[in-house]
Amino acid sequence: MIRLEVIGDPIEHSLSPAVHGAALSALGVEYEYKKVRVAAGGLKRYIAHAISDRVDGFNLTMPHKVDILKFLSEISDDARLAESVNTVCVNNGSLSGFNTDGRGFELSLNRSGYEFKNSRIVILGAGGVVRTLVTAAALKGAKSVCVINRTQSKAREVCAAADGISDTELSFAAFEELSESCGDADIFINATPLGMSGCRGDFENLEFLHALPKGVLVSDLIYNPPKTTLLKEAERIGLKTQNGLGMLIFQALAADEYYLERKLDMQAMYEKVINNL
Ligand code: NAP
Repeated sequence: MIRLEVIGDPIEHSLSPAVHGAALSALGVEYEYKKVRVAAGGLKRYIAHAISDRVDGFNLTMPHKVDILKFLSEISDDARLAESVNTVCVNNGSLSGFNTDGRGFELSLNRSGYEFKNSRIVILGAGGVVRTLVTAAALKGAKSVCVINRTQSKAREVCAAADGISDTELSFAAFEELSESCGDADIFINATPLGMSGCRGDFENLEFLHALPKGVLVSDLIYNPPKTTLLKEAERIGLKTQNGLGMLIFQALAADEYYLERKLDMQAMYEKVINNL
């Protein structure tokens, strides 16, 4: 039996137990997957429990993805570059950290017929997940990434952190420059909570969608609601769209590959998970 946990604060609404449960059941793996509320500053104590109670691995969400770095004996290259870890394997008392968000997102792109390689990408937002996506896009040979954020200094910082990873052209712009920045995008990603259920804000103006080329994919990382105002409008004007459910499922499957130390047929597993959820 494999013993897994997900830690964060808040943690009550985490879908990780459902998604990992659907995947591990489909694989016929005997498992236990618990949610554990761990507040900021509580990592040291949690890790002592994970080791002494023989937890095999754990996923991390807010506020631990960065703080965990100092407790790791090993870290994957992408997680090190993004300075963010969402998956930890515990082996004989030592911890190995990974970040599966970038791969999870790319697998969701593949499902829609897109990929990072050679793509021109525009991302709205510059929070934790964007740093991971920019790192993954640069490592996978995206042609360019433009980061647009309400607080422009954060967009600049995200680009600076990924500078030099590869030849990917990195730039940043202000929210007001959205339309001008969209003209040649292959992939547009909303990585802000605008339009998310329970979040008071939504896009006040979606005119910029008309500046996107016809073949673009409009990707919203939000999965609740399944169709945000952004996705509804993009669909209405004939653009291809995807929500964040694919990323959520694929990042979990990529984490399960680390926990189980085996490769999974990702696209086949996606079908099984979505049918079991
Ligand atoms: P975060 O670190 O809190 O960053 C939030 C970003 O959104 C910041 O850049 C912030 O801009 C911007 N923002 C917030 N409210 C805004 C508003 N009213 N107007 C304009 N911009 C606003 O969050 P995160 O972890 O990066 O996550 C971002 C989104 O991705 C969330 O919706 C999250 O649910 C989603 N997500 C989905 C998955 C998945 O598996 N599908 C995984 C991770 C994240 P400022 O810098 O100006 O504050």
